[in-house]
Amino acid sequence: MAQVSDPGGAGVATHCPYCGLQCAMSLQTGVGGATVVAPREFPTNRGGLCQKGWTAAALLRHPRRLVSPLVRDERGAPLREASWDDALDRVAAGLAAAQHAGGSDGVAVFGGGGLTNEKAYQLGKFARVALGTSNIDYNGRFCMSSAAAAGSRSFGLDRGLPFPVSDLTSAQAVLLVGGNLAETMPPFMGHLGAAASAGGLVVADPRRTSTVERALAGGGLHLQLTPGTDLALALGLLHVAVAEGWCDRDYIAERTIGFEQAWAAATAWWPERTERVTGVPVNLLRRTVELLGSARQSSRGAYVLTARGAEQHSKGTDTVSAVISLALALGLPGRTGSGYGCITGQGNGQGGREHGQKADQLPGYRRIDDPAARAHVAGVWGVEPDSLPGPGRSAYELLDALGQPGGARALLVHGANVAVSAPRAGHVVDRLAALDLLVVCDFVLSETAAVADVVLPVLQWAEEEGTMTNLEGRVLRRRAATAPPEGARSELWVLAELAARLGQPAERFPTDPAVVFEELRAASAGGPADYAGITYARLDAGQSLHWPCPDVEHPGTPRLFLDGFAFPDGRARFVAVQHRDGAESLDSAYPLWATTGRVLAHYQSGAQTRLVAELVASAGPMVVQVHPDTAERAGLLDGAIAEVVSRRGRVRAQVSCEPSMRLDTVFLPFHHPGDGRANLLTNPALDPTSRMPEFKLSAVRLEAVA
Ligand code: SF4
Repeated sequence: MAQVSDPGGAGVATHCPYCGLQCAMSLQTGVGGATVVAPREFPTNRGGLCQKGWTAAALLRHPRRLVSPLVRDERGAPLREASWDDALDRVAAGLAAAQHAGGSDGVAVFGGGGLTNEKAYQLGKFARVALGTSNIDYNGRFCMSSAAAAGSRSFGLDRGLPFPVSDLTSAQAVLLVGGNLAETMPPFMGHLGAAASAGGLVVADPRRTSTVERALAGGGLHLQLTPGTDLALALGLLHVAVAEGWCDRDYIAERTIGFEQAWAAATAWWPERTERVTGVPVNLLRRTVELLGSARQSSRGAYVLTARGAEQHSKGTDTVSAVISLALALGLPGRTGSGYGCITGQGNGQGGREHGQKADQLPGYRRIDDPAARAHVAGVWGVEPDSLPGPGRSAYELLDALGQPGGARALLVHGANVAVSAPRAGHVVDRLAALDLLVVCDFVLSETAAVADVVLPVLQWAEEEGTMTNLEGRVLRRRAATAPPEGARSELWVLAELAARLGQPAERFPTDPAVVFEELRAASAGGPADYAGITYARLDAGQSLHWPCPDVEHPGTPRLFLDGFAFPDGRARFVAVQHRDGAESLDSAYPLWATTGRVLAHYQSGAQTRLVAELVASAGPMVVQVHPDTAERAGLLDGAIAEVVSRRGRVRAQVSCEPSMRLDTVFLPFHHPGDGRANLLTNPALDPTSRMPEFKLSAVRLEAVA
């Protein structure tokens, strides 16, 4: 059970449970024993919190908090309360039956980017050792995988921001491709203030978002591109950079390879052609490159950032590669005061992808098909390397195969709500229904938990100890500030109990997060994401530790690549890529592009934030944003109820007419349940490298509802 810690009695220092900025807060005990959030000074949030952070404590004693295991006696029967022993026995028996019928891969595990490092690590170990299944992946596949793949192939290493967020504060020019930080991470915008005020903030987004408004207010630019053309835009910007003399030729010669091939691919993207394909005027293309190039040449700092708008496509990896090529041509990455980075979304989206939840990776960001990596990790785990399974299915492929021949018959879900957040969500729910056993660990009855056979109530952020790794690769301590409700248990305890029932020795699955972290340090030692030198004691003493940190004397690595990129020759790779169309096209039946995203008051699938009354009131109902003329052509007025229909499903939403919307595009937030689930529409076409689905591009039509 978690111990409650309150060093100094001034409140418990911890971090927000939601996004990857991991804003610092302290938790104090208020009137009636309620936990109260207070913001805390920290380099990332500088004393700020958004509305989600301020209201995070509302879930701690929420009446809909799960406090007892729930089981369903048979399909169609309601969930009923059960004892922990009964629920765990039922799960263990179901897992054994699924593997008896389907072999080791008869069980699948689906993790989450919000789990602590300790839980993510233990979940990967549980899957590979206790279950012996290759079928493990996590919802971070739906967030970060394209940027991670592109970063790895250009820099030899993927860390979202290879520099501290606070480095951006002095930048004079920032190009943000496909991100809306003013709504997703409001305190982040403080770091872009200098660039915005100098007219140097450029935002590429099909919508005129709050972030775009900030850029325009300071004299910056909005590149309002056609959905699905980010790759063409990046190639067009690279073309301008080369053709108009903004490249850093010395940097290209000394620090990179592959420029000629990348330039050859970009030669076809002259400005007028780029304008025709993307809709971004030539003068804005030129002005964007001039802003970045002149800021870098005068040492005033220039950065290029990507986020999900560019990445969540069936060509997301190539799109990020093209953006990285632009940054390399300008000489930005691996240089003090300039750089390229991607914005990690989920709270532990960075750490969650480093320690073994991903289908192709072992702890420390090691590849599961690397014999040396397998031997190292197997040694830490006390098993034979040959006993470890190989790479498994990616997230959507894992879900799509459930209950199919060769697919899993039982699924364990930890920290994810795939019934709302997976692409083609209606189909995914059908696959869940085809399972023999669905088990969900959560602290609220999410839409996925609601259709489970067994629901196990677990701890939430303010009740547990552990670590998180923020969007800049800095490892942070999460601390328990309040005792959990009677009946809830830690996920480490749940995994230990299940492992014991599956015949594992008790000492192999410890339940103390500090003990698990010590093992994680050993498992990651020598790997790309090396945590060997990071300890609870150093973090508790207030040290700022970014990985890699290979020994306890090492100061950590806040800035990567200053001395060289993570290849034997130290040089970054230009990757030559070609623009291609999205996986589906517009036609007379589906004449509009639908794109999806987040709104200020909600987080991810909304399973948590939809329970906070203040956030629900602020966010309002499910809407579809549409240009007034587009709405009129569909026979719709502002405020009317419409259905948005794709080739995969239909979503009901209230029409919100926005004159700034493109005529060919509608936008839907993806936080709502039921028939308001935006992912009923989305396309599971996968990127061939990252296996990222095409969340951001669906062909749709609008229909009036009688
Ligand atoms: Fe900060 Fe993100 Fe939490 Fe908002 S949701 S307070 S931006 S960590």
